[in-house]
Formats: sequence, structure tokens, C-alpha cells
Amino acid sequence: MAGALDGQVALVTGGSRGIGRAIALELAGQGAAVAVNYRANADAAAGVVSEIEGAGGSARAYQADVSDTAACEAMVEAVVNDLGPVRVLINNAGTTADRTVARMTPEEWHTVIETNVNGLYNVTKPVWPVMGEAGGGHVVCISSIVGETGRLGLVNYGTSKEAAIGFVRGLAREGARFHINVNAVAPGFIETDMLSGLNEQQRENLMGEILLGRLGEPEEVASLVRYIVTEGTYITGSVFNVNGGMFVH
Ligand code: NDP
Repeated sequence: MAGALDGQVALVTGGSRGIGRAIALELAGQGAAVAVNYRANADAAAGVVSEIEGAGGSARAYQADVSDTAACEAMVEAVVNDLGPVRVLINNAGTTADRTVARMTPEEWHTVIETNVNGLYNVTKPVWPVMGEAGGGHVVCISSIVGETGRLGLVNYGTSKEAAIGFVRGLAREGARFHINVNAVAPGFIETDMLSGLNEQQRENLMGEILLGRLGEPEEVASLVRYIVTEGTYITGSVFNVNGGMFVH
């Protein structure tokens, strides 16, 4: 396999399923050696690695909970030792715990913030000097339309996803002099396990909000990420919507 990322190492958090899996496959297709991070589902991560290897690419799975600072430091050290310096980081791992604030438990608040917000810092921090010393690269954080618009019952999640945009806008300023471009991708509603809790009525209501009248596929997010990290030499501090035409303002 050869491509724009030939010889580069890409770390995809939450690369075992859904959008992260599609991104891992896409970047491997461009020649990157992909570190597939996961939290619990080792079989799914191993499946992604096999799929990449089966197509002639290179990948390895790494367990770490992104909300655990020490585990992320150890993971990045292992990735660099095994595969080489990380030049592409996709902060994709994320979780939900939907409930109105009136009913939300402290744990439901903290789990989402610790994974979706602290995870950005925990993984980016150890990657940052490695990427800078290697000559630069790309950091892409997966935000959400919910971080741009807010949504009933998703205050914890929306807060975390707007934080991802703040993270990207500030970090892009730090990254410029190290040749590190930092961007966010804000998907709309994408067909993954994360949406498995939606019932038929909720799905039907959602369709009325989406101009294209359907949910997105993980591959439709992955191709945008691929564009940013392979072609986006003059793109940093930006937020890209991939939402089938949902109004964000
Ligand atoms: P899935 O639930 O399908 O997959 C989640 C992935 O994240 C899995 O690989 C999971 O690992 C991993 N993960 C979850 N928590 C942690 C953690 N604490 N540490 C490490 N890995 C973790 O989600 P999606 O693919 O749908 O979502 C991916 C990203 O895209 C998330 O940030 C999400 O918020 C965002 N997004 C999703 C949208 C959608 O409609 N699906 C829309 C907008 C944004 P494991 O397999 O081990 O559980």
C-alpha cells in the first residue's frame, strides 16, 4: 500500500468501532501505520488491525482509557517505540450519557467530560513534543453538531463537544510554529453504535432536520478527515461540518 501518508504513523483514539474504525481504515489506505486505540472492545480493535493487514497495510491495537492520563502517556510511549513518531493524531474517542440536567447523575456528567474533554488533553499532551520534533503533522478532533447547536438531553455531551472546538482553536495557535495543523470535524448524525439507542420515532423526527434525509455513514466522515490530513497544508484552527445539511446557526 502506498499513498500520501506512506511511512507516517497515525494514532486514532476509539479506532475500534464506528467513525474511528472508518478513519483508521482510510488512513491505512493512504499508507499510514495506524495505532488503533480502544477502551474495552479488544476483539473489535483486533478486527480493525486484521482488516488493515489483510489489505496490505500496517496497524497495531493499543488499549487505553483516554480519560486516564497515565494510561495515555504509556500508550503514546508504546506507539512511538513500536511504530515511530506520531505525525497524525485523530482524537475521536467519545462517549454519551444522555439525560436532562435535572435527572443527570454526577457520574453521567463526569464520565462524558472526562472522556470527551480530558481525553483530548491526555492524548495530545504526550504526542505534541513527538510530533513537533518529527517536523510537524496534523491533529484532528472529532466534535459534533451538538457542540454547535445544543440538544435536549445532551447538555453534558454538547458541552464536551463545544470544548473540543475551543481546544482546537487555541491549540492551532500553539501548533503553527511547530508545523502542526489542528482542526475539528463536526459530524451530524452518523450510523454507528452510538445511535443504537434511538427508536423508530426518534429516527423519523431526526430525518426532518437533515436536508439530505438520511443519516451519515462513518466513511463520509473519514474521507473528510483524510482530506484534512493529506491535503490540508493551509488549513488550521478550522471546524468542518459533515452533517447532511443540518442548520448549525
Ligand atoms: P462508537 O460508540 O461507535 O465508538 C466509540 C469508540 O470510542 C469505540 O472505539 C470505543 O472503544 C472508543 N471509546 C469510548 N470511550 C473511550 C475511552 N474512554 N477511551 C478510549 N476509547 C474510548 O462512537 P462513534 O463512532 O459514533 O463516535 C466517534 C466519535 O464521533 C465520538 O467522539 C463521538 O462523540 C463523535 N460523533 C459521533 C456522532 C454519531 O452520530 N455517531 C456524531 C457526531 C460526533 P471500545 O470499542 O473499546 O468501546
